[in-house]
Amino acid sequence: MIISSVETFATEYVSLVRVRTDDGDEGWGQVSPYHADLTAEVVHRQVASHVLGMDADDIEALNQVVLDREHKFQGTYLYRALCGVDSALWDIRGKRAGKSVSQLLGGNRSEFPVYASSMKRDISPRQEAERMLALRDQYGYHSFKFRIAAECGHDIDQWPGRTEEIVKTMRATLGDDVTLLVDANSGFTPKKAIEVGHMLTDFGVSHYEEPCPYWELDWTREVTRALDIDVTGGEQDNNMIVWKQMIDSHAVDIVQPDICYMGGITRTLKVAEYAKQAGIPCTLHSANLSMVTLFSLHFMAAIENAGKYVEFSIEGSDYYPWQQHIFSPGFEIRDGNLLLSDKPGWGIEIEPEWIALSDYRVSYNKASS
Ligand SMILES: [Mg+2]
Repeated sequence: MIISSVETFATEYVSLVRVRTDDGDEGWGQVSPYHADLTAEVVHRQVASHVLGMDADDIEALNQVVLDREHKFQGTYLYRALCGVDSALWDIRGKRAGKSVSQLLGGNRSEFPVYASSMKRDISPRQEAERMLALRDQYGYHSFKFRIAAECGHDIDQWPGRTEEIVKTMRATLGDDVTLLVDANSGFTPKKAIEVGHMLTDFGVSHYEEPCPYWELDWTREVTRALDIDVTGGEQDNNMIVWKQMIDSHAVDIVQPDICYMGGITRTLKVAEYAKQAGIPCTLHSANLSMVTLFSLHFMAAIENAGKYVEFSIEGSDYYPWQQHIFSPGFEIRDGNLLLSDKPGWGIEIEPEWIALSDYRVSYNKASS
């Protein structure tokens, strides 16, 4: 089962990848969103060039070959691109086995709880609380994540007092029975982060994401040690040395790798396994409704140390028009749970209308063509 072609279907925001084999198998995957047209170029130049002609089922070896050959280029674009091929190969593996990817990974669930995840900071606390309340009634969500601080804000809030006000407003509006999570997106120094953390604890918030600049691991660890609330992070990280440092020193209470930033399922499994050995749960980062949320659902439904919920973005076509109508069936939420199909592979069909509007490129295995 030799990889015979790697195709990209790119837009500026997202690029799908189709891998075909000489046996006639085909699998669909996706690179990490944003600047995806640039990432598609990397797929052909620095990933496909190495994997064409390799055994499609030896995903582990194939990851290694790409990273070895491109050892001078181990930055985000390489991993973003690698995810496109890695995720397509898991689709092929599932289709050949007649199992969903989740089943291949040992899962047998048909749904998984989600938390409703806001991407907005330019929204007033009242508006945020009101839309969450409406979504709770519509979809049965029981867990909600909203934004505090300003992204990489150096202790300066989005506007004065917003952080304190939104925490208070969310709890007052949604009541005491719901789970509240916050994301500070690298916003605070340790002193301010700890001060905010005590306030979060007072309002029963249970998940405090990325309180400090994520590259300042010592700062994050200081906050984790000072607070009882779960401090979480890791979405941007893709380097295994960093993951080991983070986990070995318990810099966070919950790890949050992003499958697309990590380079795919194969490398993310290693992080989850390493965290499991340390008794640390894994709650993946999946901040939009492209295939990353599908990958995360299959993954979380299978691993032993899965956190309590899959991240599910509440932003629709008004905010992220690019994530609509890529594949079918689309995501379905019932009583706060995301439904998981047991169809082989990722269990989806790519929408021909979406394909028709994307930029197409193909790399062939020259030995077989
Ligand atoms: Mg985050």
